[in-house]
Amino acid sequence: MTEPVLRMALPAPVWGLFDYLPPAGVAPEALQPGQRLLVPFGRRERCGLLVELATESELDTKRLKRAVRLLDPEPLLPTDHLKLLRWVADYYHHPLGEVLFSALPARLRRGRPPLEERSRQLRLLRQPLEEHPELLTRAPKQRQLVDWLEAQGGSAGLEAFRERFPSGRSLLRALQEKGLVELVEEAASGGGAFTAAPGPSLNPEQSAAVEAVAASLGGYRAWLLEGVTGSGKTEVYLQLAQRVLAAGGSVLVLVPEIALTPQLVARFRERLPVPLALLHSGRSEGERERDWLRARLGQARLVIGTRSAVLAPMRDLGLVVVDEEHDASYKQQEGIRYSARDLALVRAHRAGCPVVLGSATPSLESLKNAREGRYGWLRLRRRVAGGELPAMRLLDVRGQRLEGGLSRPLLERIEETLAAGRQAMVFLNRRGYAPVITCYDCGWLSDCPRCDARQTWHRAWGKLVCHHCGAERPLPPRCPACGADALHPLGQGTERLEQVLAERFPEVPLVRIDRDTTARRGRLQQLLEQVGAGGAGLLVGTQMLAKGHHFPEVALVALVDVDGGLFSADFRAAERTAQLVIQVAGRAGRGTGPGEVLLQTRYPEHPLLQTLVQEGYDAFAEQALSERASAELPPYSHQALLRAAAAKMERAEAFLVAAAGRATALAGETVALWGPVPAPMPRRAGRYRAQLLFQSSARGQLQKLLRLLVPELAELPEARGVRWSLDVDPVDLY
Ligand code: ADP
Ligand code: ZN
Ligand code: ZN
Repeated sequence: MTEPVLRMALPAPVWGLFDYLPPAGVAPEALQPGQRLLVPFGRRERCGLLVELATESELDTKRLKRAVRLLDPEPLLPTDHLKLLRWVADYYHHPLGEVLFSALPARLRRGRPPLEERSRQLRLLRQPLEEHPELLTRAPKQRQLVDWLEAQGGSAGLEAFRERFPSGRSLLRALQEKGLVELVEEAASGGGAFTAAPGPSLNPEQSAAVEAVAASLGGYRAWLLEGVTGSGKTEVYLQLAQRVLAAGGSVLVLVPEIALTPQLVARFRERLPVPLALLHSGRSEGERERDWLRARLGQARLVIGTRSAVLAPMRDLGLVVVDEEHDASYKQQEGIRYSARDLALVRAHRAGCPVVLGSATPSLESLKNAREGRYGWLRLRRRVAGGELPAMRLLDVRGQRLEGGLSRPLLERIEETLAAGRQAMVFLNRRGYAPVITCYDCGWLSDCPRCDARQTWHRAWGKLVCHHCGAERPLPPRCPACGADALHPLGQGTERLEQVLAERFPEVPLVRIDRDTTARRGRLQQLLEQVGAGGAGLLVGTQMLAKGHHFPEVALVALVDVDGGLFSADFRAAERTAQLVIQVAGRAGRGTGPGEVLLQTRYPEHPLLQTLVQEGYDAFAEQALSERASAELPPYSHQALLRAAAAKMERAEAFLVAAAGRATALAGETVALWGPVPAPMPRRAGRYRAQLLFQSSARGQLQKLLRLLVPELAELPEARGVRWSLDVDPVDLY
């Protein structure tokens, strides 16, 4: 009798699978693709994943090694999911082993047994806190626990709690006594009936959207839900999810960053009381694994998560939602460079269910598909609360004296807003005090020693920090080059804006929100609450402010500097700038009273700004799309970017020249090659970087070339000492 050959994937950057014989004493019938086995690999034993059972090997079966042990009695990855992940590996031309293993929770990758189903859960009771905020005033530790629970979406398993708060028993008891936290048994099964909490009755546009998507349930259909901020998109998701869950299906909701939108998770949890799996990096390993397992078994039929959740196994998938589909964070920028938005479509297609892409500022890719009829196009044109969309105005700052980047007219508008008891939001997408410091005597600049970039001055830390490689040093007391006494900041970041505004309006509460002020867990939540409390106030921040929050008291939104995005070499810069402007602007006037948006610029005549301000995002997008079409840029063509980095620029370039040679030999004229050229930032973290761009009007041709080319790359003699990576459908040409 011949034994089957196990074709195994291992978590290694190698192409192809590894053949093994079954472990001693394991019957062939017990083996199924999707199971993990411990196998000898090199001098160690490693956890591998069974991908296929074959009857023979290309190698001599007598020389095959025997697997050591079967780790899963049942497949950890269901067959259809294994197929999906193989598709991902094929499309992104990434080794299958790395794709499969990166889709597993961390412990399971290392061969550990799946965690038992969780039994008890801590649940946060929000109401007592809303009514008696003083309950936590003199209990910072308890506050920390409450914030943590909030960040977990309002509940967490007992085990994760112990992991996070090893000696937290008395904390928990205190919170239980105050009635803020309860300990409950988790329902084991996700099946069965549930009662959705009632929501508002939909307006006609929302109803039309819900009915259109609902009519497509049970089959694949892609929908673009384009609705201005506050137009009730989330309400549409909720009602659709409710229908799918009620019919026994499961729902996948992707969001850009959960930490930034705790309200969204809370809304789903309150409205749809079904077991929920929450998958994002803010959760503990154990919590994520449990939720992943519950999603896979269909016990949690509602899965909400960030980018990587698109690869969570699910049962009976009936609806996929991608909120803020234009958001750049859906694209993974390292390792397997997948787009979760694109994979959401692939998933829905394979599962045979609709997918809803929601945004106030859809990506040009999605807009093109909607215009050409490949996606259904649903529009919510009005804000639900009836609030007017804010008026946008350009503030010409040419020849003006600026104070920390702020013009006199802008400061006056801020003052009037505050005097009226309202809030003003000042937006600048740059953290730190100043992006560079200089010496007036000799022209010295705060260059990063490892990158072709400047180090940013972070005043509160007394340091110069490179935002690209992290290299930092103390602020030099004198000019390092000529010894002059004083160094001077050039330009500004949010830290400087904060200082200028605090000096000018000393009596007004001010909150700064950027990665520096929110690095500590729970801190963002705290800051947001301060803002939510209302009354006159100033909000300063980076793009973290642009995402999803409701700030009902904000009447004025000021964008300090929009010029950076107008002249970038990256053809997507205009699209990103337009999206950012509209998203930031959307924070104004969401509550009572009209809002106002001011954009400071030195280029008030710039066509992008003119179109955006006078005609809005749709008009901008239409223009941008026709420009892309005539330049044959995506979405009217398809790209892949091969990046290389080495200790010397010549080596990176030699590798790319060799790759380009092979590509031309393989593809002829069907795929255009651009480069090799040095990367826009040629030196980064001490390595030299270059790139080669592939472009074709036919996706199939490009894919065909990559399929032949990529396995050859590692074999090129020029690949030695070069780190390279392939980015299919790059969104960032850096
Ligand atoms: P978006 O996701 O487009 O920003 P939301 O769904 O969050 O909009 O809606 C904005 C606000 O309006 C929310 O507070 C929501 O509860 C409320 N809302 C949404 N739809 C309705 C409706 N039909 N009637 C009343 N309030 C609604
Ligand atoms: Zn000097
Ligand atoms: Zn650097």
